Amino acid sequence: METGTADGAPGGRSRRAAALGRLSREVTRCRRCPRLVGWREEVARRKRAAYADHEYWGRPVPGFGDPEAMILVVGLAPGAHGANRTGRMFTGDRSGEWLYRALFRARLADRPDSIWRGDGLRLDGAYITAAVRCAPPANKPTRDERGACRPFLEREMELFADVPVIVTLGGFAFASVLGIGPGGQPDSAGRGCEPLTVLASYHPSQQNTFTGRLTEEMFDAVWSRAVELSR
Ligand code: SF4
Repeated sequence: METGTADGAPGGRSRRAAALGRLSREVTRCRRCPRLVGWREEVARRKRAAYADHEYWGRPVPGFGDPEAMILVVGLAPGAHGANRTGRMFTGDRSGEWLYRALFRARLADRPDSIWRGDGLRLDGAYITAAVRCAPPANKPTRDERGACRPFLEREMELFADVPVIVTLGGFAFASVLGIGPGGQPDSAGRGCEPLTVLASYHPSQQNTFTGRLTEEMFDAVWSRAVELSR
């Protein structure tokens, strides 16, 4: 088991870990989308009152987790005061609380809480990334922004070409994953992975968890199935 370092780059024994580290450094320097660069940095400057004494990350958020993972997890984008603040995917907001608690219950994380990028949390068997790496206004990246960020996801999917299961969190992530391939069509075989299962879950947003659209029981069933498929 290995995990990300404080800057989100995996510390590495394997070639994949080293490649993920290089990719993470590249991601965190990206300024390809003017609207998102402006927004992520403005949020980091203004801050939410509750986090006034926090130093926001305010940059693109790299993937996080076990470089030897057999489950790839794909979300939408960093939350403005969550991952854009803490510098780790799904960390610092309610969605992340749901996700990491579920990963812990599934024995994919060594603790139920993800606090910030330097807290020592370790994932075992899972790697978390997103379709878009910068916090978008109203959690809504544009189609062009998704396209601009897609090469990063494609590279991660190439690096994890042997994983038998991808878990997508929400429709945006699902479409992003299936959009990768020749002509933009679904193409799992092109990843050199046979068979590949994409498990589509509701996003653990408050909109879904408060309304009961996604319950902990349903979410646990997703991770239980993912673990089963990953073996
Ligand atoms: Fe770069 Fe992706 Fe952020 Fe756009 S969303 S600036 S492509 S990291």
